[in-house]
Amino acid sequence: ATPTAVMVGTGVGASLGVLIKGGQALEGAHKVNCIVFDKTGTLTVGKPVVVNTRLLKNVVLHEFYELVAATEANSEHPLAKAIIEYAKKFREDEENPAWPEARDFVSITGHGVKAIVRNKEVIVGNKSLMLENNIVIPVDAQDMLTETESMAQTGILVSIDSEVTGVLAISDPVKPGAQEVISILKSMNVRSIMVTGDNWGTASSIASQIGIETVVAEAKPEQKAEKVKELQAEGYAVAMVGDGINDSPALVAADVGMAIGAGTDIAIEAADIVLMKSNLEDVITAIHLSRKTFSRIR
Ligand code: ADP
Ligand code: MG
Repeated sequence: ATPTAVMVGTGVGASLGVLIKGGQALEGAHKVNCIVFDKTGTLTVGKPVVVNTRLLKNVVLHEFYELVAATEANSEHPLAKAIIEYAKKFREDEENPAWPEARDFVSITGHGVKAIVRNKEVIVGNKSLMLENNIVIPVDAQDMLTETESMAQTGILVSIDSEVTGVLAISDPVKPGAQEVISILKSMNVRSIMVTGDNWGTASSIASQIGIETVVAEAKPEQKAEKVKELQAEGYAVAMVGDGINDSPALVAADVGMAIGAGTDIAIEAADIVLMKSNLEDVITAIHLSRKTFSRIR
């Protein structure tokens, strides 16, 4: 392609809300035959909501949610925002919007959060987080997790002073059109894969909803990047599509990193292409633009 053609390509991209950071980024996209998608915020809407709470101990719902919200108040994670939004419903004192003070807050990336609230140790997160803290997961909590995951929801465990006290079911619906995008990509001979920090059950349910066959779940940021490299070693030209800090190593490792415009600044910086409208369809727009610019059609 001539420099003019590249300028035209990036210009058209910009007018469509597909920000292409230079000629190399545009060129890379036409070879892509495998796309690795992050789940939360990329394939799903990314605005999770709490849809169910099950208490396993004799605790009062509003007190339970006060402890949970105070702990999550320190987290930037979309799940934390969902939990806090939900907790507000149980707040007794509408006039006093502050949560109790949380001490010794720790965020364990991809697993959850911990803090001391009202002299109680509160741990909110997934199963691995509980196991790492030597907390036993009771059968009824496990049952609730299994049920939640089969409905494509995420189950979050709450431990208070080393006892699992409640399970929250959180729903983050698939973006409208996600299934169609995957099926169009298939017709373009592009393979789609999903990587996520979320658990296997939820991840598989979501993947089957939208027609993705290969899933990597419970993946740490480095493992997302490793998957990209593994596919490259198999000979694929790989694009990564993601929105979070935890996607940035994979965005960098990919032949073409594409960030969702509504994503975090770190992901946007790490990417070669930014989908400003946050539409999944624009993954296809980017590939089409690149193919038009770089494949010589006789
Ligand atoms: P994804 O790759 O889907 O964006 P993350 O790696 O950010 O997911 O998180 C993976 C899992 O870790 C979540 O599904 C959840 O179980 C747990 N987790 C992470 N952060 C939190 C939090 N602030 N509160 C509760 N659970 C959390
Ligand atoms: Mg995400």
